[in-house]
Amino acid sequence: TIQYTILKMKVAQHIENANGKPLFSFEILPPLRGKGIQGIYDGIDPLIEFNPSFINVTYHREEYVYKKREKGFLEKVAVKKRPGTVGICAAIQYKYKVDAVPHIICGGFSKEETENALIDLYFLGIDNVLALRGDSLKTESSFTPEPNGHAYAVDLVKQIVELNKGKYLEEDLKNPIATNFCIGVAGYPEKHIDAVSFDQDLKYLKQKVDAGADYIVTQMFFDNSKYFDFVQKCREIGINVPIIPGLKPLATERQLDILPEIFHLEIPSDFVAEARKCSNNAAVKQLGIEWAVQQGKELIQANVPALHFYTMSKAKATAAICMQIF
Ligand code: FAD
Repeated sequence: TIQYTILKMKVAQHIENANGKPLFSFEILPPLRGKGIQGIYDGIDPLIEFNPSFINVTYHREEYVYKKREKGFLEKVAVKKRPGTVGICAAIQYKYKVDAVPHIICGGFSKEETENALIDLYFLGIDNVLALRGDSLKTESSFTPEPNGHAYAVDLVKQIVELNKGKYLEEDLKNPIATNFCIGVAGYPEKHIDAVSFDQDLKYLKQKVDAGADYIVTQMFFDNSKYFDFVQKCREIGINVPIIPGLKPLATERQLDILPEIFHLEIPSDFVAEARKCSNNAAVKQLGIEWAVQQGKELIQANVPALHFYTMSKAKATAAICMQIF
């Protein structure tokens, strides 16, 4: 029988209630504009039997593209390719009775728009969020906050904490209700790409926790020692919240090049060598599953609070891994 988790629990509470038993959670991304929600369900259904404690849904801000118009003119238009984060979260909680964790970003949001988004979530009974800065636009050389928006995730965390105290941007509201968000933030075992140093990055991570973040989810990594070192250094500087490791099963040979480039991480050379020897991507995928199983088993041995999978809305590999781990 499928044991459903109790709806409407905070991630921090899930971890506490698990009493040291590692949880299972995963991340999906909204479908491309024009696609239906069935693809989302197809990416969740095979994973439900492993009793996920929560499901994260990424947020994708607008991109700027040039569209050809009459007489060869080019028009710059903002396109949001993957809308629907909030709707998908509500649908997940309704359909699966599993807590959904929407990602909420600084990029493209003024403080007012952030507050409005948080109010929507609150009304929908979604009380978990992952607070992020978001990446810079492809057309920008560095991240530019929205006018009257936040420049760093720590400022977004502070705004959510204020709302949890019933403090809205408009000061003269009568008996404003307090929200009750559990706040996660991102951490980078191999340093964030923009950070000047690992130690500096860690200090900023501590600021997010000191501001009120309840837990950290890490960027993907393929070498567990990077995660273990990161956790140790976090503890040394007084970051005491749970640190959830994020795992991504390698799926294609191309990812050996693009993942290190995009996410600023190292894939161990023996794993790269094995993957390069594969004759096709089906073999790479199988190797990726085996590697993630080894990683997952070792992490569980080390008493991690949860294993969080970056599924890219494709359930097969994660299901194969879970079958061997949980
Ligand atoms: P921050 O914590 O604000 O840090 C950004 C950079 O600024 C770092 O280099 C940090 O060292 C530095 N910094 C922090 N505070 C200060 C300060 N006060 N002064 C000076 N420098 C500072 N992106 C999306 O667009 N949508 C998503 O759904 C999404 N989901 C993600 C989920 C996870 C688990 C992770 C790890 C990342 C995700 N991202 C997502 C990517 C993320 O938005 C980028 O990595 C982004 O560049 C940094 O976000 P952050 O929240 O870590 O930023």
